[in-house]
Amino acid sequence: MQMADNKKCAVAGKCGGCSYTGIPYEEQLAKKQKTIEKLLGGFGKVRPIIGMDFPCNYRNKVHHVIFKDRHGEIVSGCYAANTHVPVRVDGCLIEDEICQKIIFTIRSLARSFKYQPYDEDLGRGLLRHVLVRRGFKSGEVMVVLVLSGKELPGKAAFVKALRAIHPEITTIIINVNNRKTSMVLGSYNRTIYGPGFIKDTLCGCTFRISPDSFYQVNPVQTEVLYGVAAEYAQLTGEETVLDAYCGIGTIGLSLAGKAKRVIGVELNENAVSDAVSNAKENGIKNAGFFKGDAGAFLERMVKNGERPDVIIMDPPRSGSSRQFINSAVKASPKKIVYISCGPESLKRDLQIFKSLGYRAQMIQPVDMFPFTEHIESIALLERVSNRKADAKVHIDVDLEDYYRIKDAQGKDGK
Ligand code: SAH
Repeated sequence: MQMADNKKCAVAGKCGGCSYTGIPYEEQLAKKQKTIEKLLGGFGKVRPIIGMDFPCNYRNKVHHVIFKDRHGEIVSGCYAANTHVPVRVDGCLIEDEICQKIIFTIRSLARSFKYQPYDEDLGRGLLRHVLVRRGFKSGEVMVVLVLSGKELPGKAAFVKALRAIHPEITTIIINVNNRKTSMVLGSYNRTIYGPGFIKDTLCGCTFRISPDSFYQVNPVQTEVLYGVAAEYAQLTGEETVLDAYCGIGTIGLSLAGKAKRVIGVELNENAVSDAVSNAKENGIKNAGFFKGDAGAFLERMVKNGERPDVIIMDPPRSGSSRQFINSAVKASPKKIVYISCGPESLKRDLQIFKSLGYRAQMIQPVDMFPFTEHIESIALLERVSNRKADAKVHIDVDLEDYYRIKDAQGKDGK
């Protein structure tokens, strides 16, 4: 029996986070396995899901919205499912315990420093959110204070007071978000303590993580996931590998030692610059990273006659684009390793790949998010027919609609 099975969550059913609270972990895994088999079993063999030994306190990125409760006390928590109504959270079974303690300290310091929580309706107040990220292996801690303006009154005293209680904090950043938006972070960052990033180690490489860079939230299972990616890629040292939707370059860099060359592409500029520094920091010379849309980038690569031997793709939950999939097929790689946190979009994309001659050989679900309904899967695709990549594909109406909606919405994040 796992730890969290016996513990009660005080905000179960109120917070939008864990829909599997109260369900024994083995049962959660069985449910996820069933879901993936049902959705994706028709494409290829689904291996048994890889779960965690200790599925608690795994989230090393913790975010709270700051608000006043009905007694006027400054508290913090999350939004109720599908709403903008904040729910007070005083403890969470899946979040990292140190990150949580830091947030609780910040909310009590906010009371003594008289920082007013931001009121979304009135557009008044200063403190909107707090985001804390902790390097699982390095122990380095980043605190991001999301404010409605650039200035934090009594900044030096606040930093001193916070670090006196939590000397483990290695950097503190002010992020300014003065828009009416559901996005947590704004685009302006100002470092008020430390280097403005933290480092962590994954698969033997050191990674620099900026406030808004994507970094997997479950470091233990990330190593498991990347291990499966390495197994599926079967690199011999001769391959050019495309790491598409690469974030800060974690997958590509962890595989660079086994490949001839790694090329990474990512939309987020800060993540790309982190990836470039990560390559340098780890003394990796055969990896290059580019900012751009993965589909447009691969299309250009293929037009220029550059064809990756292995493509690793890890798109956001909404999945990949037609441009990317078409170009991937045209590049004719030996293997495509598709990492997905959205089983529905993976199903859609596997269907397109299949119609273009790339078939899923194996699908491995990995439980990256215990106690939530989210399921990460990794599929190995190989070419099985010589049908031309640009052959006419049967696209049903849903798919057309999907791409129209996606185009209208623009980019999204994981
Ligand atoms: N592979 C990385 C990141 C995966 S998350 C890891 O394991 O850590 C998905 C990433 O895709 C995010 O970093 C997001 O910024 C990026 N992204 C979203 N849309 C994109 C697009 N159209 N082209 C390239 N990158 C994109």
